[in-house]
Amino acid sequence: MTSSEKILKQHNLRITQFRLDVISIFNNAGHALSAADLESRLSDPDRITLYRTLKSFEDKGIIHKAVDGTQTQKFALCESDCNEHHHHDEHVHFHCRLCENTFCMDHVYVPKVVLPHGFTFKDSSMIVNGICEKCGVTTL
Ligand SMILES: [Zn+2]
Ligand SMILES: [Zn+2]
Ligand SMILES: [Zn+2]
Repeated sequence: MTSSEKILKQHNLRITQFRLDVISIFNNAGHALSAADLESRLSDPDRITLYRTLKSFEDKGIIHKAVDGTQTQKFALCESDCNEHHHHDEHVHFHCRLCENTFCMDHVYVPKVVLPHGFTFKDSSMIVNGICEKCGVTTL
């Protein structure tokens, strides 16, 4: 069983070639992807299947929204302990000003905030803008 097949099995999703393709595109990209990015990389892109796949992957805890402050909705693979009840992706997202790619900073966590009395926490996100490793090397 491949690692992509394992991910589907772990999250109780039937193994289909389309789902496997989407996971392997995420794995190979190394940064967050929009639906359009995925469409252009799929050998047999079907927009409706793609949107359904992204929706069920998000519901099941396979991918999460990588909020990067741009208008484009991007997704990235989750950490292994996400499931359909809870996501644990409280990490910082890094947005590169040059290549416009968004990266999960898996081990850089969004700080916990202490809210004033009467305020209820729902979720938070933190974006760091800058220049990624790849762009930094090429501009030096
Ligand atoms: Zn998650
Ligand atoms: Zn970059
Ligand atoms: Zn992320």
